[in-house]
Amino acid sequence: MNKAFVREPEPTDALRCPRCGTLGKLVPAITLDTQLRAEARQKLGSTGYYCSFPTCEVVYFDAFDRFAELADCERVPYPKDPHAPICGCHGFSTEAIEADLAVGSVERTRAAVAQAKANQSECPARSPWGESCIGEIQRYYMRRQAELKRGR
Ligand SMILES: [Zn+2]
Repeated sequence: MNKAFVREPEPTDALRCPRCGTLGKLVPAITLDTQLRAEARQKLGSTGYYCSFPTCEVVYFDAFDRFAELADCERVPYPKDPHAPICGCHGFSTEAIEADLAVGSVERTRAAVAQAKANQSECPARSPWGESCIGEIQRYYMRRQAELKRGR
């Protein structure tokens, strides 16, 4: 085999959830430290991957197929609990986005994005997926806006 096509897996390579097969999002150690209960933290290595599939009970897993489930978390994260804050840092929930959509406004959503942009230092610890929620908020707004236009 041509050696150019063979390489060692790197820690940043995407891994799939051992339960549902969703591509995991690499999260730093501090995310696992704060999101997992102390007694569950040792189930995983220093870093792990977040499974964002809403109905999957696996929340974090690592390269050795070790995993932590909903019961191992301090609180059930969005979107596994759709009512959990979509932004763990500021407690912004999808209900606020729905309230915006209901009146055709972007006021609350825009304010939340501005607030999140102003302070992203807490995200690795407070966001279940270890990074800013800005993209997630914007994706949710766009998706729901499109759904409402189609009458859902
Ligand atoms: Zn999963």
